[in-house]
Amino acid sequence: NEEELRCIGCGSVLQDQDPKKSGYLPASALKKAMEEENAEVYCQRCFRLRHYNEIMPVEENNDDFLALLNSISEKKALVVNVVDLFDFSNSLITSLKRFIGNNEYILVGNKVDLFPKNTKESKVKDWMRQEANRNGLRPEKIFLVSAAKKKNLDALIDFIAQEGKNKDVYFVGTTNVGKSTLINAILSARSDLKDLITTSKFPGTTLDEIKIPLDNGHYLIDTPGILSKKQLASHLSGKELEVVEPKKPLKPATYQLLPGQTIFLAGLGRFDYVDGPSAGFTIYVARDLYLHRTKTENADEFYKKHKDDLLLPPSKADDLGPLKGQTFRPHQKSDILFGGVGFITVPKDVVVKAYTPDGIGLGIRRALI
Ligand code: GDP
Repeated sequence: NEEELRCIGCGSVLQDQDPKKSGYLPASALKKAMEEENAEVYCQRCFRLRHYNEIMPVEENNDDFLALLNSISEKKALVVNVVDLFDFSNSLITSLKRFIGNNEYILVGNKVDLFPKNTKESKVKDWMRQEANRNGLRPEKIFLVSAAKKKNLDALIDFIAQEGKNKDVYFVGTTNVGKSTLINAILSARSDLKDLITTSKFPGTTLDEIKIPLDNGHYLIDTPGILSKKQLASHLSGKELEVVEPKKPLKPATYQLLPGQTIFLAGLGRFDYVDGPSAGFTIYVARDLYLHRTKTENADEFYKKHKDDLLLPPSKADDLGPLKGQTFRPHQKSDILFGGVGFITVPKDVVVKAYTPDGIGLGIRRALI
């Protein structure tokens, strides 16, 4: 056939020879398209991008990704950094501060549905702002949303529609923060945005972006997810994430502890109560995660003996290191953070020690609840 058939997503000439080259379509599908008059077909890649929002993740310091960020600084853009409220500091893209330039930058904390019902959203926002500032980022606005439960999306969409009027809107986020879910939720909430998704490449890079044309001639741009080694999610298998990632609002479990007692959060966290009076400690983690209380003096032994049965995940197959601890002496009621797993609320003026594999995701904030 002399007539070339082109993908209506990316414009590549369709071919059935090489799946790795642009415009690939399996032979049977291509044959069918050839037989049709005025066929509107996508190549396999564009089809997947459209339907599964698949963009291959990259490392944060990947040269191409940095070039992509750099290209943002040369444009008029609204940068939307989507973060996971359950792994906030590790999903914040701190390298953004070098690239935003004079552009507007907003933070969207996703998965707010997981916080217990009595959480004060203003407290969550205050904490996010402090953490962002500590990392040299000055978000213009902070939104708390649930992409999965479609919560609080209207305010965000209105803001984007308003502020993105005469610029492109870039969505950036590390993997697993829910960026795809959020973009899909936004697009389905606004059918006027649910136009054609095209793919293209940033000049001079090998990265793909998904460009979603908006009515105003500008684009909503989905950038590749960034793999962060500081995120627990990038070390666990899909099955393990099922257990670790909460699906429903976290249900607090309160433990009355004496100094010298330890609690394991499966093999992903260890919490020692070092010093203070008998007190209540409230644990917020996924319901299916195994919790075990023991004496601190027996904890090392217990861990050694049970890290491959009771205290799963993580399994041997995961590339996570040994538990590493950090001591905290909060002078106000605080949450000890186990990034990606949950948090434990502790009273003021106690001494506690928290451990995670390699110390990943450890942190502290003023208690939210
Ligand atoms: P991406 O890698 O950033 O594109 O993230 P995905 O959209 O693939 O989502 C990653 C994981 O987070 C999936 O398991 C989603 O089900 C989950 N997720 C996404 N949005 C939400 C949300 O609003 N609430 C909760 N609880 N989970 C969410």
